[in-house]
Amino acid sequence: MSKTTLEMTKELVIAQIEAKALSPDEVQTILRQTHAVLMSLQDQEARHEAVPESGTWKKSVTRHTITCLECGVPFKQLSGRHLKRHGLNARSYRAKYDIPWTQPLAAKDTTTRRKRLVQRIRPWEKAPQFVKAQQRKNPKATEAPKRARTKRAERAYA
Ligand SMILES: [Zn+2]
Repeated sequence: MSKTTLEMTKELVIAQIEAKALSPDEVQTILRQTHAVLMSLQDQEARHEAVPESGTWKKSVTRHTITCLECGVPFKQLSGRHLKRHGLNARSYRAKYDIPWTQPLAAKDTTTRRKRLVQRIRPWEKAPQFVKAQQRKNPKATEAPKRARTKRAERAYA
């Protein structure tokens, strides 16, 4: 445990009183001054800790983990649920640590795997706008699933 500012002030002033004879008025003044200086030093220290160096986030994303810069716990990916514990979300977390919005909050291999998966299943082709565009281009392409649905429905009533 670190000493409180007040304790440090007291010790410093006692040291000064012991070194030279001080009048009660002088003791008061020195107490206040010393305390004020220590408080401002402590403030500076706190601010310095709060402001992360730019680019430090890069070290938090490695091949197998992403380390939460709030609590230092490594994850495969930083979930919104976890960030919420720190009163943050993906957007405010990125803003706080100067992380580009294009940077996924996940370990590098998790990101790579996801990209490959996305390329394979092409989820945008399931998006309604894409399907509609395909229907306009080639109306016959959508007949098959309709037949399948009908058959299922017939079986259900049989
Ligand atoms: Zn955390």
